[in-house]
Amino acid sequence: MLRISQLVKRYGNGEPVLKGLDLEVPGESVVSIIGASGAGKSTLLRCINRLVEPSSGSIELNGVEITTLRREELRRTRRRIGMIFQGFNLVDRLSVMENVQCGRLGYIPYWRAALRRYPQEDIDRAFHLMERVGIAHYADKRADELSGGERQRVGVVRALMQDPDILLADEPTASLDPVTSRQIMELLQKLAAELHLPVLINIHNVGEAREYTERIVGMRFGKLIFDGKPEDLDQDA
Ligand code: ADP
Ligand code: ADP
Repeated sequence: MLRISQLVKRYGNGEPVLKGLDLEVPGESVVSIIGASGAGKSTLLRCINRLVEPSSGSIELNGVEITTLRREELRRTRRRIGMIFQGFNLVDRLSVMENVQCGRLGYIPYWRAALRRYPQEDIDRAFHLMERVGIAHYADKRADELSGGERQRVGVVRALMQDPDILLADEPTASLDPVTSRQIMELLQKLAAELHLPVLINIHNVGEAREYTERIVGMRFGKLIFDGKPEDLDQDA
């Protein structure tokens, strides 16, 4: 469960870009965040893993207050926050298996050989997850030999290797065609339900948010202006 209350973010001395935002996302649920460019969507996601430091307010993940974590605890907590990116953020020259194992480490090792010395348990786990999303047969391929949708699946598995408490996806389908986008969105729904994870998706395409998620949060100028089912969202939104 993610519980955000009265979250404020101000960059420098400017106007706040998040103006006292409240949001609860239970496990097993997928929330799409929509809103015009500049509304504060990325800032919200980045506050959750503290890539951006919140100015005030509270962010609780499974009972742990994130905003006040000190360095060492923050590092541990971040390792349980799975990130999925628009541009996939894979290491092209590494194999799929190696990319996936980076999730376990939480960083990209300089010595590639480090990735081959994994406990069998981690390899089994990676195969299990790769099978689940349909990429197990690509384990030894280089990441840059895959299609966009396949690469995003690698990104998803890498995030799952972290044994995450939450998945944060920043425009995960923006580089994909509509058919592949649908598959990735459906995959995220399925994983949220099966793994009891809250999933927050920053999504550019309102049509996709309507079609693939049961709950949409609309942001405007740093505030939530909508939180509900797609059918309750104005047609012109
Ligand atoms: P969105 O993801 O909805 O497009 P952002 O969270 O990226 O919105 O941006 C919200 C506002 O915060 C914008 O006005 C943007 O210019 C500003 N902003 C984002 N990042 C920074 C930053 N690092 N420093 C100053 N202003 C920023
Ligand atoms: P996107 O459109 O993908 O959200 P942006 O152009 O908003 O990307 O932001 C790109 C980078 O610049 C981000 O790291 C963001 O935090 C930063 N940024 C955005 N707006 C500002 C700003 N007004 N001042 C400083 N940094 C900003």
